[in-house]
Amino acid sequence: MAEDPRQHDDLEQPRPTREDAEAAIATLLRWAGDDPSREGLLDTPRRVAKAYTEWFSGYGLDPDAYLARTFEEVAGYDELIVLRDIQFESHCEHHMAPIIGRVHVGYLPDNKVVGISKLARVVEAFSRRLQVQEKMTSQIADCIQRVLQPRGVGVVVEGAHQCMTTRGVYNRGVSMITSKMLGSFREDARTRAEFLQFIDVGPGR
Ligand SMILES: [Zn+2]
Repeated sequence: MAEDPRQHDDLEQPRPTREDAEAAIATLLRWAGDDPSREGLLDTPRRVAKAYTEWFSGYGLDPDAYLARTFEEVAGYDELIVLRDIQFESHCEHHMAPIIGRVHVGYLPDNKVVGISKLARVVEAFSRRLQVQEKMTSQIADCIQRVLQPRGVGVVVEGAHQCMTTRGVYNRGVSMITSKMLGSFREDARTRAEFLQFIDVGPGR
């Protein structure tokens, strides 16, 4: 939800205004059974709209751009690079409920490496959208493969879906793990095993 409306050129409908969004939130409050004109809720539509601009800021970010600047002076370093425990907050596209978790990213560089904060920014650009965890996992891996062109990429995502933990079947404590392996991570069992050992996913860590 970038402030720049030009970034929504690809949408068929014109982008609603902030006032439209706040009116819709007031409707939801009424529909939930409350009174949006009572004092405690007066500012709620404005606050929710503001929160949305943060939660969905990924639509205004270009993840490819973060990886465009690389370093080649790495003294021939060509071993695994792993960034683990990148915290993320996303929202599931089926319920708009939070998905909270962490992402682990590994790649085998082919001359080019990126600053580690850039990988975290790629995660942010994809997570701050409406998502399906499987899709987000692929998007992060595909982006790194496409722009950085390493010898291989591995992405593992652990997410707790509040649409599952707070309603419906009420599976408290359940988290979902998805992974996407490309290049040498897919073809070479040793590279994959080394990555999984580095990120140490699973109970008891
Ligand atoms: Zn959901």
